[in-house]
Amino acid sequence: MKQPSLQQPIIIDQLQALLRRLPNPHPKREEITEHLRRFKIGHAGEQTLDLQMPMIPENCKVFRNMTLRSPANGETFQIDLLILHPCFAFIGEVKNMAGTLTFDLKHGQLLRMLDGSLQSFACPVNQSSRQAFHFRLWLKKYADVNPPVLNHVLISNYQAIIEAPADHDGIYHAANLPRELMHVSKIYTRRVITKEKMKSICETLKNSNAEHRSNVLKKYHLAETEILGKLTCQHCGNQTIMRIKRSWKCTSCDWRDVNTHIHTLRDISLLIQTPLHRKTFDFIFGNIPARSTLRLIAPFSTRSGNKRLLLIDKIEEAYEKTL
Ligand SMILES: [Zn+2]
Repeated sequence: MKQPSLQQPIIIDQLQALLRRLPNPHPKREEITEHLRRFKIGHAGEQTLDLQMPMIPENCKVFRNMTLRSPANGETFQIDLLILHPCFAFIGEVKNMAGTLTFDLKHGQLLRMLDGSLQSFACPVNQSSRQAFHFRLWLKKYADVNPPVLNHVLISNYQAIIEAPADHDGIYHAANLPRELMHVSKIYTRRVITKEKMKSICETLKNSNAEHRSNVLKKYHLAETEILGKLTCQHCGNQTIMRIKRSWKCTSCDWRDVNTHIHTLRDISLLIQTPLHRKTFDFIFGNIPARSTLRLIAPFSTRSGNKRLLLIDKIEEAYEKTL
């Protein structure tokens, strides 16, 4: 079986959309840009795991970046790497950190020495233990199985120096993953998950993965109106985009594009999940007749009272085709 490579987390799309929609300059841009940079670093770290995927044993099923709801408290919990083996489940907490990483398990902290300064972080071992706790309950509730659930911490930055207690063997560089899996599969040899059960667990996992669209406007204390401005040319920054002969043209820099409305609707759908007034779309698309606006948004929205609700699936489908 081909093991899955990692998809970009939706929060990166959301923050990119936010930066495209926010006026420039705007007091929140710097903070959002910094957060986007950090999410991209985390994602790049997890992507390095793609290199290990071909070496994962064939009888394992791999899931990346899963967001599941815990039967314990109804809250979501997030697993970077989840591997199901017939005899055990494996949870990997992936950290893409540089520097010298000292795991102080006794005090539940991770200390990082980088460029002469010492910083303390919440211990990833505790994080992964919590995920294992919730996933055990999840497996019991949805599949009625109780395999050993192992939780390890994988450091994806190959230049990081790991200092971990000698008696704790669940912290290592991500490149060690195939070897560790081989090792634990020799320890746990009793089959707990049958072939049929494995199939149904995989199906349930896929359907339960609630990749979460966060409310980024709320997070940055922004009003909807701040991101519902007129079309802005991404090349020259002017709001001089006209609709000419079924395409969009910036009259300042002559840039042309046929998909601007699809990209704009996608950006809005990533940021606002509630219905919007027709007038809002008329305003965004500028001085084109109202019936033209409706023609543009109709395939991607549905009527909701006297407003229009954007249809995420239709927009994503059209967006994929423009790439
Ligand atoms: Zn332009």
